[in-house]
Amino acid sequence: MYLNGISTKSASTIRTVVQWCFMLWVIGIGIRFGMFVNSVERGAVVPLVSRPPGVEGFLPIGALTSLKYWLVSGEIHPVHPAALVIFVTILLMSLLAKKSFCSWLCPVGTLSEGAFKIGRKLAGRNYRIWRWLDYGLRSIKYLLLLMFVKFILVDMSVEALGGFLDAPYWAVSDVKMLHFFTSMSLTTMVVLAILTLFSLFYKMFWCRYLCPYGALLGLASIVSPFKIRRDSTRCTGCQRCSAICPSSLVVHSSTAVSSPECTGCLTCVAHCPERNVLAMQPVFWKRPLPVWVFPAVVVFMFMAGTGAGMVSGHWQSSLSYSDYQRLIPLVQSLSH
Ligand code: SF4
Ligand code: SF4
Repeated sequence: MYLNGISTKSASTIRTVVQWCFMLWVIGIGIRFGMFVNSVERGAVVPLVSRPPGVEGFLPIGALTSLKYWLVSGEIHPVHPAALVIFVTILLMSLLAKKSFCSWLCPVGTLSEGAFKIGRKLAGRNYRIWRWLDYGLRSIKYLLLLMFVKFILVDMSVEALGGFLDAPYWAVSDVKMLHFFTSMSLTTMVVLAILTLFSLFYKMFWCRYLCPYGALLGLASIVSPFKIRRDSTRCTGCQRCSAICPSSLVVHSSTAVSSPECTGCLTCVAHCPERNVLAMQPVFWKRPLPVWVFPAVVVFMFMAGTGAGMVSGHWQSSLSYSDYQRLIPLVQSLSH
C-alpha cells in the first residue's frame, strides 16, 4: 500500500485531479472557441474573445498531414501549427511515458472511464467480450491507423500535402469540428448513443477497439523505458491488479507490463495490497519511485511540449479574424 512512504492509493487521487483539471481546460477551450465562431456568425466587427489555438488538439488527422509536410519540406505549416505541436508532444509522451495521454489527459478517456464505472454501479459488474471476438475487435483501431498511415504518410506527395494544408477545408476544419458537436445529425447522435451504451458495460470500449490515435500511441509506447514492474518475490498472487486494470491486462503474472494497451494509469499500483511490489519505473532505475514521479513526468512533458510550441512561434494560426469572416459562411459547402 506504500511506496517510499507515500500511499499508493494517492496515485488514483492524483490522476483524478489531473484528468478533471485537463477536462475543465478543454471545456474552457471549447466554450471560448464557440464564442469566437459565434462572433463571426453574428457579423461582429471584432471577436468577443480571441481564438484559442488549443482547439487544434482535436484535429489529429490534419496534424498527421502537417507532420509529414514538416518532415519532407522542413517547414511547419502556419495555418494550424498548434495541431502539430500538440500531436508531436503527445507522441513524444508515449515514446517516453507509455500511452499516458490516454489515461491522464484525454477527455474521451476520462469520459470512457467514468462510463464504465457508472455501468459497474448499475449492473454490479463490467462485462468482458469473448476472447476471440476481443482480439478481432482490437484489430479495428490498428486497421484504421494503417489506413491513415497509407493515405497520408505513404501516398501523399509534397504537392498534395501542401494542397491540403493550403485549402479552405483545412483552414475551417476547427469550425467543422465545432459544428459536429453543436449541430449533431441524427446519425451522429445514434452512433454516440450506441458507443455510450457499450462504454457503460465494457471497459474503455472506444479506446480499446476503435481509437486509431490510441493505437498509434500504444505502438509508440512499446519503446517507453517506463513500465509497470512487479516484484515476483513479494507478490502474493492475489490478482487484484489484473481484476482492476481498465485495459483488462494480465498484471499478476507479468514481471513487466509491455503491452501497447497499458496506459500507465497506475490503477493496478493503487490497488495492490502489498508494499513495494508493483511500481511504474524506468528500466534503468532499480528502486521503486515515489508514485508522484510518473504523473509529474506526464504533466511536465505536456506543458514543456506545448510551451516550446508557444515560445518558438508555432502556436497561433496565421489565419486572421477577417479570414474566418470570409471562410465561415462557406463551411457547409466545403467538403474537401
Ligand atoms: S497495467 Fe496497470 S498501469 Fe497499465 S493499464 Fe493496467 S492498471 Fe493501468
Ligand atoms: S495486486 Fe499486488 S500482490 Fe496482488 S497479484 Fe498484483 S502485484 Fe501481486
